[in-house]
Amino acid sequence: MNILVINAGSSSLKYQLLNPDTGALLAKGLCERIGIDGKFTYKPQVEGKAAQDAVDVAMPTHAEAIKAVLDALVDKDNGVIGSMDEIDAVGHRVVHGAETFACSVMIDERVMQALEDNIPLAPLHNPANIVGIKACQACMPNVPMVGVFDTAFHQTMPPKAYIYALPYEYYEKDKVRRYGFHGTSHRYVSGRAAAMLGKDPSQLKLISCHLGNGSSITAVDGGKSVDTSMGFTPLAGVPMGTRSGDLDAGVMQYLMNRYNMNIDEMLNVLNKKSGVQGVSGVSSDFRDLDDAASKGNERAALAVDMFNYSVKKTIGAYAAAMGGVDAIIFTAGVGENSASQRMAIASGLEFMGVKMDAEANNVRGKEAVISAPDSKVKVLLIPTNEELMIAMDTAEIVKAAKG
Ligand code: ADP
Repeated sequence: MNILVINAGSSSLKYQLLNPDTGALLAKGLCERIGIDGKFTYKPQVEGKAAQDAVDVAMPTHAEAIKAVLDALVDKDNGVIGSMDEIDAVGHRVVHGAETFACSVMIDERVMQALEDNIPLAPLHNPANIVGIKACQACMPNVPMVGVFDTAFHQTMPPKAYIYALPYEYYEKDKVRRYGFHGTSHRYVSGRAAAMLGKDPSQLKLISCHLGNGSSITAVDGGKSVDTSMGFTPLAGVPMGTRSGDLDAGVMQYLMNRYNMNIDEMLNVLNKKSGVQGVSGVSSDFRDLDDAASKGNERAALAVDMFNYSVKKTIGAYAAAMGGVDAIIFTAGVGENSASQRMAIASGLEFMGVKMDAEANNVRGKEAVISAPDSKVKVLLIPTNEELMIAMDTAEIVKAAKG
């Protein structure tokens, strides 16, 4: 079975063609500058097939982008499949499923309407996801499509974890609550963690740290998300590359008055100019911060320290929330690559049974146990694979629908 996984943004579209049964990746790539001019990148993962790197392809809309993807996949010289019939289904990443979607679903008219209804909750992301789905439906009218939501995994959180301490009517009338994001990643790595530990997910208390450009931490008890650090939007939680993370809302009023900013300008600062970028004044990329810090830049060092400290505090909070933890998982760009940050975050937690192994931690980008053999709490490095999770969900739903 081959599944095409689509992650559509407003002017870009990432794709992968995968076989979820074997986990094999056949091809991947990216369409950029959709609606502007159009750049197409194609990376076949099969021996002897030539890649294309940011070549000019006119993409006035997402439909031309999808067409370019399909043309490349079936190309007689460099394609990886013989015909479009070899694409069994399409899995779409959708950012916001609100309270409507607690799991992945087959896309039909009713689902499309629900996606439209949820636009106010994710005005930047969901419209692009909808456009991506419609473009695929137009090019592949007979291929089943499945929606996989970033928020769905967190729908198991109890009210005490998702209700904000605001007048309750804002939840009832306006759907203001913690939703959480990165759910597909947290679900994937927590499933892998259970496999690595040889336990059933129902027996495990896990803390999953997705640390990338955007970062979120999730408490997973018995296979279910019970708390997560992102909130109503992905701005909440730990500080990130350019996002502030949690902030005293009073700061906003103070700064808006002082600098005569409106709320959009303020939010632009919080989303794009804050986080480790804002504190360091150097970069949002942790590699640049490491470089600068090693040359004596104190604010770069402070930014990294502040980030690590915030992740550590959240781990402590979630261990308390679950009444213990069996394993801590590191994933995404920073979690998979930065041994020094993993060490800084997980050291000093010996009081709760976490003992790192410096040698085992000296690894990147592959599944590994990085705690000491006698550590009560296991620490795991698990590369995330949201596309594979989307492909697996899609295959399962399509197979079930066929009966
Ligand atoms: P996203 O998907 O949220 O854009 P990623 O998961 O790709 O982000 O993570 C990007 C982050 O990973 C960047 O801040 C980058 O600095 C960090 N990263 C990648 N490699 C390393 C490394 N070797 N050391 C430290 N950080 C790294």
